[in-house]
Amino acid sequence: CDACRGTGASQGHIRTCPECGGSGRVAYSQTTWGGFVHTVTTCPVCEGTGRATDDLCSRCGGAGRREGVQKLTVEIPAGVEDGMELRVPRRGNAGRFGGPAGDLYLRIRIAPHPKFQRRGRDLYTEVTISFPQAALGDVIEVPTLDGDAELLIPPGTQPNEVLRIPRKGMPDLNGRRRGDLYVTVKVSVPKQLTAQQRRLLAELAQAMNVSPKGTDKSFLDKVKEMLHQRK
Ligand SMILES: [Zn+2]
Ligand SMILES: [Zn+2]
Repeated sequence: CDACRGTGASQGHIRTCPECGGSGRVAYSQTTWGGFVHTVTTCPVCEGTGRATDDLCSRCGGAGRREGVQKLTVEIPAGVEDGMELRVPRRGNAGRFGGPAGDLYLRIRIAPHPKFQRRGRDLYTEVTISFPQAALGDVIEVPTLDGDAELLIPPGTQPNEVLRIPRKGMPDLNGRRRGDLYVTVKVSVPKQLTAQQRRLLAELAQAMNVSPKGTDKSFLDKVKEMLHQRK
């Protein structure tokens, strides 16, 4: 409570509790059938605080602290993981009568990323390349946490092949080696071809000793007919 600076008294006048003499504890002696029993309990007048005042703070009712909400800026260490607890010292509830505050514990939840999946220190992502790039090889740019990085596509790369970029994953919380970035390579097949591309692919098919029916001019008519019959 900032009105009484945590003392609980509006003018800050605090006396020693007359009941317990400031110790917060009182002793009772009782005679029972078994004999003489000596007990020490919390002082009922000051509730164990050892304090008394005649001018209770009107803002906090004498408690010395009030409920409130504060906004804090908290530093998140690099490499923190989902479900981890972060301790912010002395940012919990205020102590009694100006005593030290407790700690604030934050449970970290990691939001999903649109491009990267995380498994431990490693990250996973996907890129799509054309089949000439996959067949001939290329150097492409892939997104990483630190901006684009070059990735070598070796000649003859197969669909769904996984390539690794070392040390482009997550930083390690304890300062050990950074994780890797694994890139799954998707190979796209063109949905539409120009006349020139169609001619070159037919030539390629011939050179590869395959004769797909798609090179036949009447093929598209046949496809339409088959789709029609299926209805
Ligand atoms: Zn007392
Ligand atoms: Zn107060």
